[in-house]
Amino acid sequence: MSLKIDTKCLHIQNKEESDCHYGAISYPIYQTATYAHPEVGKSTGFDYSRLQNPTRQQVEKVIAQLENGIDALAFSSGMAAITALMELFKYGDHIITDADLYGGTIRLFDNINVKNGIEFTHIDFTKSEPENFIRENTKAIYIETPTNPMMRVTDIEKVSKIAKEHNLLLIVDNTFLSPYFQNPLNLGADIVIHSGTKFLGGHNDTLAGFIVTNREDISEKLRFIIKTVGSGLSPFDSWLILRGIKTLAIRMEKSQENAFEIVKYLQSEPKVRKVYYPGIEGSQGYEICRRQARGFGSMLSFEVESAELAKHILKYTKLIPFAESLGGVESLLTYPCTQTHADVPEEERIANGITDCVLRMSVGIEAASDLVADLKYAIDSYDGYKGRYI
Ligand SMILES: *Cc1c(COP(=O)(O)O)cnc(C)c1O
Repeated sequence: MSLKIDTKCLHIQNKEESDCHYGAISYPIYQTATYAHPEVGKSTGFDYSRLQNPTRQQVEKVIAQLENGIDALAFSSGMAAITALMELFKYGDHIITDADLYGGTIRLFDNINVKNGIEFTHIDFTKSEPENFIRENTKAIYIETPTNPMMRVTDIEKVSKIAKEHNLLLIVDNTFLSPYFQNPLNLGADIVIHSGTKFLGGHNDTLAGFIVTNREDISEKLRFIIKTVGSGLSPFDSWLILRGIKTLAIRMEKSQENAFEIVKYLQSEPKVRKVYYPGIEGSQGYEICRRQARGFGSMLSFEVESAELAKHILKYTKLIPFAESLGGVESLLTYPCTQTHADVPEEERIANGITDCVLRMSVGIEAASDLVADLKYAIDSYDGYKGRYI
């Protein structure tokens, strides 16, 4: 039976297995470090929780199915997942990446992985042809789409054809759209990354990360890496993600609906210079996103007329917190230049359009009218009052 994704989010647990859990509808948290063996040469399938734990295995099965992969591995954070992923590469390997990636990923690549002899070229996939940057030692292409925070959209299928022609791995960080709206493996990617901290968990209450693949050889290598480096997700956090996923569909729909309302307001606001959201008709990513995804998501960025106004908004919204992170039920406003992208060299950051006038918003599931009123209140209170609250 081929289930719709809304149903899959709730009913992936298989019936046979549920018998050994007394029919519990919520998957149990196996808070154990180790497992007793019946005799030499026999195992329950579990030996030690660094290698595998039943609750972690369950969340991995769910994520693998949502992304149409053959295997998913759960890590203690998105960065732990990407760090483990990079163990697939060795000294002298070269990777082409998008220039507009999550700041922590750029920090990992340019400070830690580079130290280990891995080379990177960061390019703008909307402007440059990746083929021009392929070298003899190039092993992979690493992208996010839409990008963070400029919401640029990359054609996954097109890039996957180039990757296949040159025998490169295509890695896609799918955090922003989640498996509810986009499945990069279906579009030719070999590996999908998720920060489970974001939409999958959905409640701003835990960190998690995932690697999903549809290739046996990669899955085998990653299984060896996770048991060796020891950054697997804990049983309780695995359970929190399982619980989060139960409402993934309804959260994604509501927050996207809200995002459209906020975009409409921001576009009508004279002090807002530009709004970046792939759901805007005629925008760079609109057509590609419509073709390769089932939605546009609920992440947006906007540029206001001055840095003072940007800072004023962050101080004077009453409802929307000024906080890092995204993908939770609560809306959040982020200031990329001092938060997520503070460690990206200034020149590179500004070349990407991430100036001190740009704010990023993760739209949650509040009433859209309250969110619009909060933003409007903060913006209106700026004019003529030089930052003083009225
Ligand atoms: C947050 C984020 C990460 C890192 O994940 P953590 O769970 O914070 O370690 C990676 N990629 C993207 C796109 C993210 O938003």
